[in-house]
Amino acid sequence: MTHRRHAVSVVFASAVLMAGCGSGGPAPHPAGRSTSSTTRPAPAPAPVGDGRVIVLDPGHNGGNAAHPAEINRRVPDGRGGMKACNTTGTAAADGYAEHEFNWDVAVRVRDMLSAKGFQVVMTRPGDSGVGPCVDERAAIGNRSHAAAVVSIHADGAPGANSHGFHVAYSSPPLNSVQRDPSIRLATTLRDGLAAAGFAPSTYVGSAGLNPRGDLSGLNLSERPTALIECGNMRHPGDIALLESPGGRARIATAVSAAIIAYLG
Ligand code: ZN
Repeated sequence: MTHRRHAVSVVFASAVLMAGCGSGGPAPHPAGRSTSSTTRPAPAPAPVGDGRVIVLDPGHNGGNAAHPAEINRRVPDGRGGMKACNTTGTAAADGYAEHEFNWDVAVRVRDMLSAKGFQVVMTRPGDSGVGPCVDERAAIGNRSHAAAVVSIHADGAPGANSHGFHVAYSSPPLNSVQRDPSIRLATTLRDGLAAAGFAPSTYVGSAGLNPRGDLSGLNLSERPTALIECGNMRHPGDIALLESPGGRARIATAVSAAIIAYLG
């Protein structure tokens, strides 16, 4: 069977109309009745996002484990090699799955950015499908002409002292946007998470940043892109944060603010 999924979930944010606020308009009629149809409402301020496209890429998918042949299919890695289409992702010791965490955080970020006037594209429409492959995830960002592409993951590293978040970017860069724009996006996400009180990784990268050459989604991107590992699902402290709705809301708030800060 073929389960290639190319569906893209698009959320269009609606502009907030400020009509009726009265700013700049005449005083209300003393009797409280509207008597004129000639008064123009004050123009609505431009939304922060102004329709710009953000692609959110929640890692893995809920149906991947049940479709190994499709998920193990080889796809280009962006550096001349091939790698698996996708993987199942990791899980906490109690079974809480990374794909479920990624989806939850991505939905929260989507809703926050949509409310700010951004057009948000998700690389998968839900958490029960298969894939898409990592090369297709990059292609979605490229086709969407995204202002930023942010992949959301959580790690599954061994070691009792391995904890904290890190942000990966393509290195060495393969095109101009993988140079300064993607490094700045990764750095802004790192700074935003740190400012929100999250601790950078103790076990990988440096100061919460992790330049990598092996991630196809980053290698194949022609748009500014970075991948967040929000924490280590195998660490007791991290997983307490990642499994709590309040923790995921805090992460999503920090990520949303960092994306907006990056775009200026
Ligand atoms: Zn992952």
